Amino acid sequence: MDKISLANYPALTYKDQQVSIEINCPGARDYTKMSYPVKYGLFSRIETPELIFEFNLNHEIRHARSKEDGWSHPSEWLKRTMGDDWVYYSTGGYAGVVESIGEYYLPNLMYQTNSLLGGKPFETPEVAKILGDWHTLLSKIEVNTPSLPAKAAQWLGSIKQVLPEDLARKAKKLFAISGDRATVLPPDARHSDYDIIPITIQDGCLYKCRFCKVKNKKVFQERTRQDIRNQIIALKALYGKDLINYNAIFLGEHDALNAPMDLILYAARTAHEELGFSDSYMREPMLYFFGSVDALLNADDRLFDRLNRLPFHTCINIGLESADDDTLSLIGKPISARKVRRAFEKMQAINQKFARVEMTGNFVMDRGLSEAHTLAMLDLVRGSINHTRPKGSVYLSPLKFGSPSREVLFDFYHLKTQSRLPMFLYIIQRL
Ligand code: SF4
Repeated sequence: MDKISLANYPALTYKDQQVSIEINCPGARDYTKMSYPVKYGLFSRIETPELIFEFNLNHEIRHARSKEDGWSHPSEWLKRTMGDDWVYYSTGGYAGVVESIGEYYLPNLMYQTNSLLGGKPFETPEVAKILGDWHTLLSKIEVNTPSLPAKAAQWLGSIKQVLPEDLARKAKKLFAISGDRATVLPPDARHSDYDIIPITIQDGCLYKCRFCKVKNKKVFQERTRQDIRNQIIALKALYGKDLINYNAIFLGEHDALNAPMDLILYAARTAHEELGFSDSYMREPMLYFFGSVDALLNADDRLFDRLNRLPFHTCINIGLESADDDTLSLIGKPISARKVRRAFEKMQAINQKFARVEMTGNFVMDRGLSEAHTLAMLDLVRGSINHTRPKGSVYLSPLKFGSPSREVLFDFYHLKTQSRLPMFLYIIQRL
């Protein structure tokens, strides 16, 4: 490890016929794209013939799976987020998941979103049992043997003490630090498995587009430096011992790029320092935020050079939505196609010039939209680029929520084969 020492996190293993306990398992230190389940960070695990539960360094449950026959697949698991949602990671049941979303595992969410893929894992009895009863199942695990090391007995007691109500309360505290729950995270946050620390540097957005299901009523307003610092200090206390398992921040809310350059850089630098990212167990710090077309066109060019020099790899996701005027007006986005095209060009120039800054963009997708929308988008992602580029992903965001569709998925694959930029589906995920 770099500055923190594994000696402070001694591994301990206990095993008998009924239970296995592993404390301080050293998981992966880099987020990777693998076709088998990778566990990140330092964590601890308890396994019985019926279940496997994993806990973070604050003794909070973070992964779970049943070993009963009804569980869909041994490589599928549940993950609990800091917002206290459970996400079911499925293999998707067929080979198209990685092509569609850029990841080998498909996140199935407990709430309605715009995903085109996935089944209904939350309706299976095995998943419902874990969600409803995980703490009861955990409480029933008793190890009454003198051979259980004292440290393991202490750990078992500690994990039992954290109740579901405590976790729900902690999620509310997290939302209260910035004032609100982040209703949408950038698609690029998939590169950190959505393990981000949210810091709000501005509220609201510029456009209040008609089609948007994640907007709020707040007018665009940046926060003060003091407010940002206060959030970071509060977040440090909230994440507590588990902070060393984080190395990524999300600067909210919906248009951080429209905040002044100095404020963006201040937030990133202060977070890196105060949250101790240079001592993190996880390597390669990541910085994520959203930007609007106007914010990008008006951005000080020095910003990208300065971001490029930060100890982060930065991903900025721009809501382009469409390069066709009629479609923009239909979805109620008050910008012109000309501006969208200029923004797209600027994104490509930034991607070429700065190795540690990646500009990604979103376009809407729906069978009800005109061919002109598709052609205008293809003109950018194919026509304006003369060869395939690995950087600068384009995300297609289905307009409809709660409406998985094979037909729209087929449309997506058709577009993907034509794009000269990496193209994926955007599954809207909240904190
Ligand atoms: S798409 Fe972006 S700019 Fe438009 S309303 Fe939603 S958050 Fe605001």
